[in-house]
Amino acid sequence: MALTGVEIFKLLPKTNCKKCGHPTCLAFAMKLAQRQASLDACPDVSEEAKKILGEASAPPIRPITIGVGDKAVKMGEETVLFRHEKKFVNPCVFAVEINDSMSDEEINKMVDDVLSSEIDRVGQKLRIDAIFVNNVSNDAGRFESVVMAIASKAPAVPLIIATNNPDAAMVAVKAVADKKPLLYGANESNVEAMANIAKTYKTSLGVTAKGLDALSILTEKIKGLGVDDIVVDHGARSAKEILEANTYIRRAAIKKNFKALGYPVINFAQRDDRVLESLVATLGVTKYASIVVLGSIEKWKNLALFTLRQNIYTDPQVPMQVEQKIYKIGEPTPESPLTITTNFSLTYFIVSGEIENSKVPCRLAVMDCEGLSVLTAWAAGKFTASKIAQFIQESGIENEIKHRELIIPGYVAILSGAIEDKLPGWKVIVGPREANGIPAFLRSKVSQ
Ligand code: SF4
Repeated sequence: MALTGVEIFKLLPKTNCKKCGHPTCLAFAMKLAQRQASLDACPDVSEEAKKILGEASAPPIRPITIGVGDKAVKMGEETVLFRHEKKFVNPCVFAVEINDSMSDEEINKMVDDVLSSEIDRVGQKLRIDAIFVNNVSNDAGRFESVVMAIASKAPAVPLIIATNNPDAAMVAVKAVADKKPLLYGANESNVEAMANIAKTYKTSLGVTAKGLDALSILTEKIKGLGVDDIVVDHGARSAKEILEANTYIRRAAIKKNFKALGYPVINFAQRDDRVLESLVATLGVTKYASIVVLGSIEKWKNLALFTLRQNIYTDPQVPMQVEQKIYKIGEPTPESPLTITTNFSLTYFIVSGEIENSKVPCRLAVMDCEGLSVLTAWAAGKFTASKIAQFIQESGIENEIKHRELIIPGYVAILSGAIEDKLPGWKVIVGPREANGIPAFLRSKVSQ
């Protein structure tokens, strides 16, 4: 059972020393009870209290990692039902299904598509994260060879070994145990054998059952067999049932602290109709899936799903912003143009990307506006003529460039006169309103 703030307070040192960043031990206890603080923040807590509180303050959804190295993916550890209450922690994993009855050529093509799926968006690398290798052939030898071939072609990509045949599971997991795969396929009839394989090779175990009662009985059984890292499949496949079951599991784990369902959830979105598949996947991304299995890779689908996931898993309390400074794009000379924008990450990456596209070396002055976009910052009084002038003067740019021309975003053309008043000797040039107009604008400017 979760402890109340007062129960937690009784176990803390009660010195109000503030080392945890909170004004009193009681304030810290209240944050712990709401799962908005970590016990590690108090350096003076006793070992006995740690033992009691460690269990009580553990995240209601168990953290689980599959894979090793830079591309390993962490799931679970969520603490809230709604993103705005705090944040969603570990982005859901996109896995694509490759089944072992496909031809070697088809398998190679799918693996190539996974490897080339990575895109860079707002400074983050986004990709298809894992491969769900499905033992459709029910042939243990074929399954093992396909798993090994995929692991050797894509050694860094986390694997989900999917079979309900313990013999096939044994050979396949043994072949790639060092990559810490997820073994998926435990059910009522094979649970002892599958748990034994997961325990032997120290992998996490995916379990499936029809209905949440049966599922929670199975997870308790698996835990009793010595496997703690579990991923649950509630068996729902229609969009409506997936939404209901995912929500029920998240509510049971977060609101009731029901440990038997406090595990990451895997959803299956594969559909022949790719648009429908995308829609089912978006349901999983927005409502509590930790793994969404897809049937294919298409660039348009990746873009839509990656963007959605990035938005859902961005911390709503922390604006996405970049550092205030003058960025050099290309190899600008003292004569190269100087442009200015705000430090909202999306604005920065779009503007800098379009400057790169122009092939015109340039300096981009990025001004701290608390992560707001140009128009919002202007409306909020953070991107004003005085503040821009102060930033330019204090940046030291006047020692780096020979000209005195500043290109401002077209949306704040209204500021041009006021900036020239505040920056004597400078000429303000109004750039395009939309970033996609930047390449043509810069090219025409340097050819003048
Ligand atoms: Fe209390 Fe520990 Fe925070 Fe100090 S660091 S105020 S002892 S909870």
